[in-house]
Amino acid sequence: MTVAMKNQWAVGRLTDKMSNDLLLPEETVRVRREARTFADDVLRPAAHELNCTPETRDGFRYDIFNAITAAGLYRVPYPADVGGLGLEFPTLAALTVLEELGYYSPGIASAMYDGQAILVGKTLDAAGGAVRATWLPKIVRGEIVGSFATSEPEASTDLSVNTLKTTARQVDGGWRIDGRKRWITNSVAADRVLVLCRTEANTSTFFVDMHAAGVRVAEPDRKMGNHAQLTADIFFENVFVTDADVVGTPGAGLRTALGALALGRMGIGAVGVGMAQRALDVAADYTSRRHVFGKPIAAFQHWQFRFAEHAIEIEAARNIYQKAGMNVDRGAAAEPLAAMAKVKGSALAVDVARDAIQACGGYGFARELMADGDQWPLESIYRDAKIGEIYEGANEVQKWVIARAMFGRAITG
Ligand SMILES: Cc1cc2nc3c(=O)[nH]c(=O)nc-3n(C[C@H](O)[C@H](O)[C@H](O)COP(=O)(O)OP(=O)(O)OC[C@H]3O[C@@H](n4cnc5c(N)ncnc54)[C@H](O)[C@@H]3O)c2cc1C
Repeated sequence: MTVAMKNQWAVGRLTDKMSNDLLLPEETVRVRREARTFADDVLRPAAHELNCTPETRDGFRYDIFNAITAAGLYRVPYPADVGGLGLEFPTLAALTVLEELGYYSPGIASAMYDGQAILVGKTLDAAGGAVRATWLPKIVRGEIVGSFATSEPEASTDLSVNTLKTTARQVDGGWRIDGRKRWITNSVAADRVLVLCRTEANTSTFFVDMHAAGVRVAEPDRKMGNHAQLTADIFFENVFVTDADVVGTPGAGLRTALGALALGRMGIGAVGVGMAQRALDVAADYTSRRHVFGKPIAAFQHWQFRFAEHAIEIEAARNIYQKAGMNVDRGAAAEPLAAMAKVKGSALAVDVARDAIQACGGYGFARELMADGDQWPLESIYRDAKIGEIYEGANEVQKWVIARAMFGRAITG
């Protein structure tokens, strides 16, 4: 029996049968409903194109960015004074949005929500003062595209002051920035970028105008996955910024950047849960209908146990990111739960995608069957999943953070 599926993108959601949001606040359930409607209506029809089109300089999807804005999703993480929804549990709700966007397009979720709304927005939010009042409402209203730049060609996991090459030196009326940042998400479209710079013996963060003289963005990188997440190098040559563009306390730039990164990492965990869920949904649907040796593939206990184990792990990963988000909303420290959420969700996405492809055989491996035009989503989920284990703090470093909470810095360093 052949089970060619034109509409593989519309499989049912196992979460509806196997899980529920009964323990979540009503406001979070409402946000999930709205984010899911948005994802089903806007991302599902575009997902194959978003996830499979190679990166180009003019490839930033303003239509999707504007649709996220119109759906009000950038308002979710923020208080009312900057135009946000003013939720009681804004981090939890924002992570829920990320799971829903990541279900169809991890590239869009990572660039346009984790990057824009969490990394850029939360850094401005924590900085307070005029920089928050001026720029955060524009992020919430989707009026500017933002980028977050800590990584450099030779400094990424390790951002200590001596590894950073991008510098800011104080001049009359402001600062001059020189250097180069690498892998910067959204940079080809960004209006403003948060830049971590070395300032003599310490670091400071600036919100730099991307249209200023001396700023140049390279062609976007060609990557294994997350094609909808455009990254590129940014070059800064004698770029002038004013004192008003300093974000947070001068000299404490790394602390300013790391605060938002802890939230971003929970987001990577939530996107991983979305990807894992999508891979499981597709594989469960396919293996229930595809027959081998006279019965569905799902009738073999090997796959029943495998997928049952994955269902347990997805539920666990979802619970960790939710607990991590809720903790932050209640004023508790982000770590080590943020690290746990990131490691668990990102590794799970890779594991489930790999098994889902195996169970679906050649159809799992295919992107598009040209004879009949069928599109298959699993290969892109597998490609997209891998970066979650690497970026926003490699998983090895996250395990170090968890071990540090267990043993103390005196032992772990
Ligand atoms: C798609 C994409 C989007 C990105 N977006 C942004 C962005 O918007 N802004 C930005 O600033 N950066 C961004 N980055 C950079 C990203 O955060 C870095 O790639 C990531 O931090 C890894 O850095 P690296 O590649 O230089 O690896 P390195 O720092 O060289 O690390 C390589 C590997 O070394 C290992 N390692 C490192 N430290 C330890 C340790 N203590 N113990 C054990 N093993 C260790 C890990 O396995 C790690 O993967 C992005 C990258 C990609 C690919």
